[in-house]
Amino acid sequence: MDTAMTREGLRESVREVCERFSGAYWRELDAKREYPEEFVRAMTRSGHLGALIPEEYGGMGLGLTDASVILEEINRSGGNAQPAHAQVYTMGTLLKHGSEEQKRAYLPGIASGEIRLQAFGVTEPEAGTDTTSLSTTARRTSDGERYVVNGRKMYISRVQHSDYMILLARTTPKDQVKRKSQGLSVFLFDLGEAEGNGLTINPRRVMINNETNELVFEDLEIPASALIGEEGAGFRYILDGMNAERVLIAAECIGNGRWFVDRATARAKEREIFGRPIGQNQGIQFPISKARVRVEAADLMRYRASEMFERGEPCGAEANMALLLAAEAAWEAANVAMQTFGGYGYDTEYDVERKFRETRLFQVAPISTNLILSYVAEHVLGLPRSF
Ligand SMILES: Cc1cc2nc3c(=O)[nH]c(=O)nc-3n(C[C@H](O)[C@H](O)[C@H](O)COP(=O)(O)OP(=O)(O)OC[C@H]3O[C@@H](n4cnc5c(N)ncnc54)[C@H](O)[C@@H]3O)c2cc1C
Repeated sequence: MDTAMTREGLRESVREVCERFSGAYWRELDAKREYPEEFVRAMTRSGHLGALIPEEYGGMGLGLTDASVILEEINRSGGNAQPAHAQVYTMGTLLKHGSEEQKRAYLPGIASGEIRLQAFGVTEPEAGTDTTSLSTTARRTSDGERYVVNGRKMYISRVQHSDYMILLARTTPKDQVKRKSQGLSVFLFDLGEAEGNGLTINPRRVMINNETNELVFEDLEIPASALIGEEGAGFRYILDGMNAERVLIAAECIGNGRWFVDRATARAKEREIFGRPIGQNQGIQFPISKARVRVEAADLMRYRASEMFERGEPCGAEANMALLLAAEAAWEAANVAMQTFGGYGYDTEYDVERKFRETRLFQVAPISTNLILSYVAEHVLGLPRSF
């Protein structure tokens, strides 16, 4: 792929891949709850999933804005970026905090797709939103050669379609650190070696076609070389990657929002009831117009956040705001499309109900919008921390 292409050229190159995967393709997989192997393979081959990996490690070496455009276009095409998106950004922790040896060992394989790094384990059944209270432990063995992992993780996506995973675990007990955010570490380990040797993967069926799992760690041994960066600094590393993730997911929401607005508009033009197009009624027009306005506004905040990120400026507030605005705009557009389609919106053949389910997720995961509002209250408005 030509890495010097313009942003419009980049969009076009994603559209070319996505055109090969119609609504029928996604519908069938959704019904069977199957992973889109062929789509992920095509996106890997085209090089798009290595967007953020520097060229010296075999990636496209693009910035965050361009990477976000790739995910936006997947969702705008009617597909779902979720099964592929983590290959784009999960390696961020490794890229930023890994040793040169680790980067050389993994990044070229991740860029080529030979190494699938799509799994990222933070959430736990008891800890949930309160990440720093997580209780999965990684204890270093007395010879210093290995860590022994124990605990449980919940709703960890794409584990069955990953070769490696990133794990956040406690290496220093809570009562031995000043703050709960200390004593957490990040590991990159081989899932093939782990499964059945201390790691049990229990699939969870969820509302959308997203392969997600409960993970049970019982004395799983991983090599000490699996540690990324400094022991105990893991929470900071995870936070570092979060602004990028917020922007990328905001772009997926924008893609969904545009898809819903386009579909609703087309339907409003062609569907005739009472002898005229339903789109002639302001009761149908105005909600679609409003959804379009909201998607455009959210898109501006998404670009503002990603451009600040690329300039290396602090952008926690903007990245959070972008995600909240985009998730809400996409959801409004989803509701409008559902209303415009009437009964047909419920019919799987029109894809609206599938995308409706898919887009609702973004107000819950990767971060609940409540937590974004708490962030704004505390860090932007200076209000007292509520938890
Ligand atoms: C399909 C899917 C895929 C996922 N994939 C992954 C993955 O790959 N890796 C991973 O680590 N996690 C993953 N998750 C988990 C996801 O990140 C969490 O579900 C999410 O962060 C919320 O945590 P929780 O479900 O435990 O909610 P809880 O923490 O139980 O919170 C429930 C509700 O209470 C609200 N709440 C809690 N505390 C407060 C407060 N102080 N103030 C206001 N509101 C509050 C929350 O905002 C939320 O709305 C996935 C989840 C889903 C559904």
